[in-house]
Amino acid sequence: MPTTPPLAPRILPELDDSSRPYWTGGAAGELRIAHCGSCRRFVHPPCDECPDCGGALEFVAVSGEGSVFTYTIAYQQFHPEMPTPFVIALVELDEQPGLRLAANIVDCDPSAVTCGMPVRVRFEQHGAVFVPVFAPA
Ligand SMILES: [Zn+2]
Repeated sequence: MPTTPPLAPRILPELDDSSRPYWTGGAAGELRIAHCGSCRRFVHPPCDECPDCGGALEFVAVSGEGSVFTYTIAYQQFHPEMPTPFVIALVELDEQPGLRLAANIVDCDPSAVTCGMPVRVRFEQHGAVFVPVFAPA
């Protein structure tokens, strides 16, 4: 029987051409979001073409500022190196209404998180992957 390797503290994404700029932009300190050249809208999660108009997508650095749209506090410990509680939020970026991404909220007491709270991106490096997380702005 093969042994099961230990779980990583984070489940890291598979990088492909349509998602790599999102997961590696943090190396340059940039949150990069797919943007449609035709209808000028941001698209997240990244995909091959604009779901609205079929236009070509290009990654553009955004401000990294947004607000907590909604969130949940996880108390269940999934991994010994991942301390609980932690906060998983949908963060709405300032660039476009409805442009939301799922991310952890860090550097604050989970009980202090509120909907509408202004937050700013930072990055957690795991090898080549820079996971966007958000802290109170
Ligand atoms: Zn479009």
